[in-house]
Amino acid sequence: MTTLASRLAAVDGSIADAARSVGRDPSEITRIVVTKFHPAQVVRELAALGVRDVAENRQQELSAKAEELADLDELRWHFVGQVQSKKVRAVRRAADAVHSVDRVKLVAALDRAGEGQDPLDVLVQINLTSDPQRGGVAPDGLEELAEEVAAAETLRLRGVMAVAPLDEPAAAAFERLADLAERVRRIDAEATWMSAGMSQDFAEAIACGATHLRIGSAITGPRPYQV
Ligand SMILES: *Cc1c(COP(=O)(O)O)cnc(C)c1O
Repeated sequence: MTTLASRLAAVDGSIADAARSVGRDPSEITRIVVTKFHPAQVVRELAALGVRDVAENRQQELSAKAEELADLDELRWHFVGQVQSKKVRAVRRAADAVHSVDRVKLVAALDRAGEGQDPLDVLVQINLTSDPQRGGVAPDGLEELAEEVAAAETLRLRGVMAVAPLDEPAAAAFERLADLAERVRRIDAEATWMSAGMSQDFAEAIACGATHLRIGSAITGPRPYQV
């Protein structure tokens, strides 16, 4: 087995163990591989290993890889980075789901960019820290934002996304996230996704009900270059 294959198998084994240890069925959890900074060839190798869900956090990289790998039509591309308003068209063209919708203005722009297209899966990103500079909407703005997404013609509200703060145990933060996810489900019962858990904290996320894990380096190895 290649190291990529063995790391993928090890992580999937840990996901299954973490799920069973809290009485959850591993098959209800989607493992997304975050491939940012890795060449398209790594995504191709992952696809050959059966990976279907991959994620990027920069629009240019997303667009370039999605185009280069357009022959892999079973791949689903998730966008997990800051969406600049002027990049919404490009993001919509390449992404099957956007996890990082964090402001009302962006909802309107994404909706306009999708006129006449199939609905785009959208998650509302929540800031679990007290630092307004970190990505995501503050919890007190969550419902307004989720309602905007739910009302948008070309967007489908799927749930919530968050990154654990650095200065707090992940489990405590993900418990708050689970409560916030519940509030969003009251707006739309089909908004069942909870995107949480990365290489270092996916077990805690699974214990708190995460449905979508975003795992990078534990599967791909260290990122080759970072800008
Ligand atoms: C890079 C990234 C991840 C994956 O991080 P790892 O620690 O490498 O697993 C998950 N979510 C987001 C938003 C990211 O930018």
